[in-house]
Amino acid sequence: MNENKPLVAEIISVGTELLLGEIADTNSQYLSRRLRDLGIYIYHKSVVGDNKARIISEIKNAAARSDIIILGGGLGPTEDDLTRDALAEYLGEEMYLDEAMFEEIKAMFLCRQRIMPDSNKKQAMIVPSADFLPNPVGTAPGWIAKKNGKIFITLPGPPEEQKRVWHEAEQRLPVSKRHIYCRTIRTSGIGESHLAEMIKDYTLLEDPVVGIYCRDNGIDVRISSASDCLNESKIKTEASVEKLSEILKPFVYGYDEETIGGVALKKLAESGESLAVFENITEGLLTDNIMRETHWKSAYKGTLILPDAFTDVSEKTAIKAAKQARKQLSADWGLAITGIPNAEPEKTASKITAAIALASSDIIFTAFTKWAGTPEMVKQRAVRTALNLLRDSLEAGR
Ligand code: AMP
Ligand code: MG
Repeated sequence: MNENKPLVAEIISVGTELLLGEIADTNSQYLSRRLRDLGIYIYHKSVVGDNKARIISEIKNAAARSDIIILGGGLGPTEDDLTRDALAEYLGEEMYLDEAMFEEIKAMFLCRQRIMPDSNKKQAMIVPSADFLPNPVGTAPGWIAKKNGKIFITLPGPPEEQKRVWHEAEQRLPVSKRHIYCRTIRTSGIGESHLAEMIKDYTLLEDPVVGIYCRDNGIDVRISSASDCLNESKIKTEASVEKLSEILKPFVYGYDEETIGGVALKKLAESGESLAVFENITEGLLTDNIMRETHWKSAYKGTLILPDAFTDVSEKTAIKAAKQARKQLSADWGLAITGIPNAEPEKTASKITAAIALASSDIIFTAFTKWAGTPEMVKQRAVRTALNLLRDSLEAGR
């Protein structure tokens, strides 16, 4: 490893189920974030099936260009769990049974009042150049091997186990001399190309790097800077965040992990006001979005989900539904999404698909979704529009 170069890691996710799309590779998403926070660069990630030759080939590719090679998955006890075998063969080493680890795994089974099947023995196998990374929540420990200036790490696949074992690995990594500082500005109500046009002077810069990402709720602008000094990266990034926030001011709803619903509920909680919801076509999706937010308990009073009520797409109906929700649930605000349940998707984009209203004792705001799409898309858009209406209206100071 070259002292002056940034540390570069690479993740190889192992599992045929990942290739076939049966499960999403959430592990490497978690690892990537951790690596970023540790100031370790990542240029490549890959997914490979449960096939020893192909796993070895991925390890070779990774070792040719990265300092830290992280293999996730394939540490189970079954025949198709081949990560250990592949790494051992790549390293040119023979695996041996580690008696102490074998006893630990047996004890774990005993603790669960089960006899250890023979196949679990392979989880206690290791090569001479590796050390075990303990797994306090499962039977598959990881490995960390340092060889030829590279670090090889194996981690179990189940996400909670992987996090715990990765924590062990982190303690054993060299400290990166680089620091990556990232912020995200979250916007809504503006299209990607329009936004790009507004901030084009910034997206051309090399430091900080400014990236534009289209997300479910709008467009995110990510600003990041990497340097040898965290404070320097932070100052550069924050200066850009301030300038970009000013340029994009009418569209910014939050920063980093904030969501539209979260921002709206926080405002309600801060002002001691409460919210009641009505929904029919969205079948509880708006409520589900609200209940995912940290502030939901202090501001949210409840929902009327009445599939057969207010089945119409008109402003008048939406207002009636919002008023009924606020009255019946004794809330300051009523937020309603109304429409025709199970309506066939429209072919034209101009047709109104949901009518939305927000009502207090004396103020009313309304919005409509007009987008054509599948019923699922109409539902998602209606919920987004409703949360945006809530946030916008509260933002406007009422
Ligand atoms: P394994 O270590 O290959 O036996 O993995 C066991 C289980 O972990 C799999 O069946 C998946 O449910 C889960 N898993 C493996 N890899 C991943 C991944 N990259 N992201 C999320 N879950 C995973
Ligand atoms: Mg597997």
